[in-house]
Amino acid sequence: MTHQYPSLSPEQKQELATIAQRIVAPGKGILAADESTGTMAKRLQKINVENTEENRRYFRDLLFSVDPSISQHVGGVIFFHETLYQKSDKGVLFPKVVKDKGIVVGIKVDKGTAGLNGTDGETTTQGLDGLSERCAQYKKDGCDFAKWRCVLKIAHGCPSPLAIAENANVLARYASICQQNGLVPIVEPEILPDGDHDLQRCQYVTEKVLAAVYKALSDHHVYLEGTLLKPNMVTAGHSCPRKYTPQEVAMATVTALRRTVPAAVPGICFLSGGQSEEEASLNLNAMNQTPLHRPWKLTFSYGRALQASALAAWKGQPANKQAAQEAFFTRAKINSLASKGEYKPTGQVDKAASQSLYTASYVY
Ligand code: 13P
Repeated sequence: MTHQYPSLSPEQKQELATIAQRIVAPGKGILAADESTGTMAKRLQKINVENTEENRRYFRDLLFSVDPSISQHVGGVIFFHETLYQKSDKGVLFPKVVKDKGIVVGIKVDKGTAGLNGTDGETTTQGLDGLSERCAQYKKDGCDFAKWRCVLKIAHGCPSPLAIAENANVLARYASICQQNGLVPIVEPEILPDGDHDLQRCQYVTEKVLAAVYKALSDHHVYLEGTLLKPNMVTAGHSCPRKYTPQEVAMATVTALRRTVPAAVPGICFLSGGQSEEEASLNLNAMNQTPLHRPWKLTFSYGRALQASALAAWKGQPANKQAAQEAFFTRAKINSLASKGEYKPTGQVDKAASQSLYTASYVY
């Protein structure tokens, strides 16, 4: 092993690095709106709205057609396949609506999890077959980045060495295929919050998982400057009796990341993982206030923690569209401030923003 055979041209590298930097430009994060049809069913059920294609389109339209100044806070939107080919109320394809605001379009390309036989219910993620062709088509259809979610859990004996190795490898293979097709891969090894483990255990497991992921990315010759990481925050398990402050979560998370994520990675965009909207904002803010040196941007790629208040305000009623858009805009602005460590909570948080969004063994 003396050298790397050519994989990406200087122009391809330049394009990937530029896309990644645009997404995580100062004050910007990602709106994860790539819920599968099944996940949307659960979201809509909570507000008694039927899970029809039109209702999914209507809600996404509401998010995407918010005031254009949203682009100061949101640098990228992740789409689900169906949404990429839907149109706004004005008849404009959604990718164009988002791009016209100066926001980068992304697409979920994984096909969900599959069990790893002989483990304690652990999984890998499927979707490598035909991935190169799908990426090429998505690039033509306006996408510049992609997402692939792998899931690990903390339990007795978990994550197993097999789950860590398999998920690291599949993420690296996905990332390599994306880059060949001009898509910036978001690498998402999500460690679920299920369990009663403490903060230290989550930090230890997060470090082991991320170290394996970056070894695999190196083995697969992935160009790190043209990638983004989407990790869990380091938090105690959902049923841990001890509660930790945002400062403790921030210190554990930034410490784990500093030990494992190379400085060449431009941005780390957290998932919200069932935290309430406000909790996810406070934790991100605290991370950007830690006295530790941080060579990458620390920002958000929230699904639930950017949409919960908007869904609660909308309730499926066209008359509530504006209120829902305002709720979404408010959360995006707060998270933008948090990504710079500048969020100053007023202490007045509405009910929807402080409600836990946790679901056991979360499926996206
Ligand atoms: P949550 O922020 O709701 O955890 O989801 C983000 C996501 O994209 C998970 O893959």
